[in-house]
Amino acid sequence: MKYIDEYRSKELVDQLLHEIHALARGKYTLMEVCGSHTMAIHRFGLPSVLPSNIRLVSGPGCPVCVTGKRFINMAIAYTNKPDTIVATYGDLLRVPGSSFSLEKAKAEGGDVRIVYSPLDALNIAKSNAEKNVVFPAIGFETTAPGTAVAIDQAVKEGVENFYVLCGHKIMPPAMNAIVEEGVKIDGYICPGHVSTITGEDIYKHIPVNYGIPCVIAGFEPVDILYTILMIIKQIENNNPAVEIQYKRAVKPEGNRKALDYMHKVFITRDDYWRGLGIIEKSGLRIRENYKSIDAEEVMPVRVQAEEKDQGCICGEILKGLKNPLDCKLFENQCTPINPVGACMVSSEGACQAYYKYKRYE
Ligand code: SF4
Repeated sequence: MKYIDEYRSKELVDQLLHEIHALARGKYTLMEVCGSHTMAIHRFGLPSVLPSNIRLVSGPGCPVCVTGKRFINMAIAYTNKPDTIVATYGDLLRVPGSSFSLEKAKAEGGDVRIVYSPLDALNIAKSNAEKNVVFPAIGFETTAPGTAVAIDQAVKEGVENFYVLCGHKIMPPAMNAIVEEGVKIDGYICPGHVSTITGEDIYKHIPVNYGIPCVIAGFEPVDILYTILMIIKQIENNNPAVEIQYKRAVKPEGNRKALDYMHKVFITRDDYWRGLGIIEKSGLRIRENYKSIDAEEVMPVRVQAEEKDQGCICGEILKGLKNPLDCKLFENQCTPINPVGACMVSSEGACQAYYKYKRYE
């Protein structure tokens, strides 16, 4: 298949649904790890056409949703420093910190600018030599190589006013943590974008250690339904493995060049995930030889410690234990215009997916 229409073909969708209905004899809870999958699943209304014995739950793969309040507090604290620009992805702007968001800090006079890539932030630094520029970097293996390139370039070019507040995380430790906490997952719909960088090897231990099938999926209805069929086949044949459904974008070995950059600039560290707590070796830290770029090293800020969200159940949603309709604040106190938690702010958040597509109505 070559064109997007083919991945939305009614005939193919019907055929896949027919096979899924015929094969799915048990009860299955499948976790879509990636926020883009959550959005696609709700956009195309897939839960309503799947058999009721297949439950899809959202996972921890929305970068904004798993970023802790302390990180947001730190980014905000940089807006209070003199001659400092915070250059951030737009998605982070409205995420609530302990008492503030970057958007509010901007409204109160902080120099906060939206960028679309770390290289945009580096360019702002180059054209504002009299100011410091801090880039709060979030995201998984998909975006970490881009940050690594900007850091490497800044050092090579001797840019002395560019700093990165590093909040990058990696996917597999969170997938392990969810299973080890006892959450029952029968299959992982693995993230397509992350896997274009990492390839399939990062999931290989999951079927071996936990007996859970892993299928790397694309983002169209045919991709997702075909992935579900592949997972159900693995379960029914008692043959858990890693498979790639999204072959048009993901190579088994991933993107070597991007991985090399990532490993050159970052090293793993224990990190905090909103809702999941501290997970061993799940975050990325800037290596010693690039520490002149590390905002936490060079210009540390003191902020409030990590704290629980009041009334927001994002954490349980990110573990697949609850869904947005279980939250008392959903749709009344919490909407995309007035978000209480990160899962409603993010364009990949489960709460925003439920709110936007209203498939439950
Ligand atoms: Fe949190 Fe709002 Fe989602 Fe409730 S609806 S879990 S408050 S983001």
